[in-house]
Amino acid sequence: MFQSIRGTFDVLPEGHDIAGRSVPGSPSWRHVEATVREVMERFGMEEIRTPMMEPAELVARGVGQATDIVQKEMFLIERGGETYVLRPEVTAPVMRAFLEHHLAQRGGTQRLYYIGPCFRAERPQKGRYRQFHQFGVELIGSAEPVADVEAIANLMSVAEAFDLTNLRLRLNTIGDTEDRPRYREALRDYFEPFKNDLTETSRQRLETNPLRILDTKTEHERVMLAEAPRLPDFVSDDARAHHEAVTGFLDDLGIAYDSDPFLVRGLDYYTRTAFELESDVLGAQSALGGGGRYDGLAQAVGGGEPVPAVGYAAGVERFLLALAAQDYAFPEAPHPDAFLITIGDEAKRWAVTAAHNLRKAGLRVEMDLLDRSIGKQFKEADREKAHVAVIVGPDDLAEGEAQMKHLPSGEQQAVPLKDLEARIRMRLRRRSGGTAST
Ligand code: AMP
Repeated sequence: MFQSIRGTFDVLPEGHDIAGRSVPGSPSWRHVEATVREVMERFGMEEIRTPMMEPAELVARGVGQATDIVQKEMFLIERGGETYVLRPEVTAPVMRAFLEHHLAQRGGTQRLYYIGPCFRAERPQKGRYRQFHQFGVELIGSAEPVADVEAIANLMSVAEAFDLTNLRLRLNTIGDTEDRPRYREALRDYFEPFKNDLTETSRQRLETNPLRILDTKTEHERVMLAEAPRLPDFVSDDARAHHEAVTGFLDDLGIAYDSDPFLVRGLDYYTRTAFELESDVLGAQSALGGGGRYDGLAQAVGGGEPVPAVGYAAGVERFLLALAAQDYAFPEAPHPDAFLITIGDEAKRWAVTAAHNLRKAGLRVEMDLLDRSIGKQFKEADREKAHVAVIVGPDDLAEGEAQMKHLPSGEQQAVPLKDLEARIRMRLRRRSGGTAST
């Protein structure tokens, strides 16, 4: 017996549990995806789909050689002398596509969104998987604060579309690339006297990339951080004005945020705005999504000119977990309009064609595929919550009629076979509160 590999899971028609972790059924996933798409359309976002595989080099440059993702978490594939990677995120691939297809020539700002799987070889736990799903937006071509606000407002609108509560939006400015060397030095100077109190990881980071110490989860290091120099005090006047414009717009929109001077992105091509949306109900993996401005990314992945851009990525699984924690009422999968129940070979033969024609006419129709007794066929129709059962035996066929039974009420009546579609529709209209016509 094979099993799905560690950190991956199957999405079944109904929700199920794996090792205490519940995976919602496919109707819940479709509902989340459809809601995300609906919000994206309201913002005029256009969908982009990029391959699951990318050149490993693109990801190394786009995500950053020094990150955990590139150092430890890539699923690599060697083939024909090339090294590919299962995409760990979608921003670098979208930027590659933007450059490869000269999307700038379409004019204006490219407002792109995506939704699909990503792969990272992390240690699996609740909210953290090896194959997971992200949706996100990339607004490419605008350096204006309104673009940052559009990205943040988009993420908040998705959360609002699900009535998610207990949220916290953290916001910071990390300034421009030129602002950071001074800050890095200040951080090093601050931590140098406490060097021996730092964890091994942070000591290394102090040498290689001190900004990443700000991500520490270790309690005593967080205490040390309280007095540490703050990046927003080191940013240029331009970057500060940009940040003030962003916060001004957020105030106009009534979007509440917490300023968090220690929210950073460790890589040089990230600029100015950084944000993260967290939920109280998610436990250790509390981030629903995060993003920011990355004016240096295009050049990092090989573009000639700098291209200003801002965006975010959010986790579909994290949304599902937050919704489940809030007892969100997911819509049920649609039930069959009609279930055809037959007695004898001739009726079965009739049903094969009838089901086909009714489906072509747009109705949801099922029938028995196991040659079972009439009792078992009724049971299946009930289990599937069909709206009507259409029962046909040899005598009915001879008369040119069927018995139509409305399953919720048990009402049954004979209907002419030639009028079957119209009569099923009449019954459905009554269900949806419309007036039946003859
Ligand atoms: P990141 O690209 O790391 O900023 O991730 C963006 C969002 O994707 C996070 O806020 C999470 O919601 C989600 N995410 C990232 N990694 C995982 C993972 N391994 N499993 C599930 N969701 C993830």
